[in-house]
Amino acid sequence: MPTKRGTSNSNSRGSSKDRKARRQYLLSKFGDGKTAPCVYCGEPLTDATITVDRIVPGCQGGKYIRSNIQPACGLCNSKDGNLIKQGKRLDISCGLESLVSSS
Ligand SMILES: [Zn+2]
Repeated sequence: MPTKRGTSNSNSRGSSKDRKARRQYLLSKFGDGKTAPCVYCGEPLTDATITVDRIVPGCQGGKYIRSNIQPACGLCNSKDGNLIKQGKRLDISCGLESLVSSS
């Protein structure tokens, strides 16, 4: 097993084809198949602007599965690491957790 460094730069997100399929799924489930609102701010998102937000973050074992993903705009998705889900999703504690759980 390769050493995990706590980045999200791995294959856990799947291929670009997988990511496109996930975006399409979110557009269909949360919207009309072409646009869907950001779950945080309601901004309408398209395939070009949607980002896939994990409800349970990866550092807590959350996976890119359909029951764990929701649409978010890039702004909210980057904010949510330290603001929106404060206490639930802190990147620093996530790093510590993954160190602990992988030892
Ligand atoms: Zn948003």
